[in-house]
Amino acid sequence: MIITVKKNADQELVNQLIESFVQQGFQVNDSVGSDYHIIGLIGDTISLDDRMIKANPIVDAVTRIAAPYKKANRLFHPEDTIIDVDGIKIGGNEKIAIIGGPCSVESLDHILSLADKVKEAGACILRGGAYKPRTSPYAFQGLETEGILALVEAKKRTGLPIVSELMDSDQIDEFEKYVDIIQIGARNMQNFTLLKAVGKRTTKPILLKRGLANTIEEWIMSAEYIMANGNPNVILCERGIRTFEKYTRNTLDLSVIPIIKEKTHLPIIIDPSHATGNWKYIEKMSFAAIAAGADGLIIEVHEQPQCALSDGDQCLKPEKFKHLIEKARDIAKVIGRDL
Ligand code: PEP
Ligand code: MN
Repeated sequence: MIITVKKNADQELVNQLIESFVQQGFQVNDSVGSDYHIIGLIGDTISLDDRMIKANPIVDAVTRIAAPYKKANRLFHPEDTIIDVDGIKIGGNEKIAIIGGPCSVESLDHILSLADKVKEAGACILRGGAYKPRTSPYAFQGLETEGILALVEAKKRTGLPIVSELMDSDQIDEFEKYVDIIQIGARNMQNFTLLKAVGKRTTKPILLKRGLANTIEEWIMSAEYIMANGNPNVILCERGIRTFEKYTRNTLDLSVIPIIKEKTHLPIIIDPSHATGNWKYIEKMSFAAIAAGADGLIIEVHEQPQCALSDGDQCLKPEKFKHLIEKARDIAKVIGRDL
């Protein structure tokens, strides 16, 4: 960390600041030039609060050299993390994982029939929301426990592991018992109490979606919350961010793929359904995500999108989903991966 001290700062106050860093165990390099006075701190500065240092009246600026995250940082963990989901491996050079299913579980029959089709299309994991974060309190809120139990039946029938969104720490025991991947949705990406709870109370893989308007660093810091609290099994999921653009529901930020791979060792998957909000664009964006090195895709699928209880406009019909997977296989081959 580099601290720029104001010109003509009282030397007594500078000495006090330096002493406080020495007391905390840092090696301090004090360099006084003709125009600038800078203090370099060497040591583990992760828990230092830059804004607290900046509040000191003799400090002009504080520049962090190291990233504010450690557990997720590739610097300290050069090899890719590979997450094991009930035998299916996500990350590294493993097969690209295709996750498909409805936005919401709508009934037992509905999920059983769709699960067969999702499996037949070539997906390896089934998705389905049971606790839904809806903008309107009058919209379908999900079948809750009944939905989770229906997913369990679909797993028994197809063998596909299941992923579902957790909204409240009260649900952790239920998810720990029944669900293979716990999704933390975009709206809860910075629910720090929830992140701490899934860090402490489970080691199940967490699918951490990027928040609606969060930077990559904020997103990695949310992964860091889960990891620092004891759960190292985090899969990141880009699902588009809010921009001024109106032709898509969100803007799919595919640049996160190489960035996440450079900065962290965690797997990254792409959700082209929520990113585009339009079934017509899902296939093309899926191909682009695979070409850019994504470790997986999560796609909403419904037999009758016009009747879906949520997100029908961004659901692919099973035949289109199958077609997408077949074509995606060729793209994966070009970059040396399997699907
Ligand atoms: C979902 O997966 O159905 C969902 C609500 O996702 P997001 O949190 O990305 O909006
Ligand atoms: Mn949805």
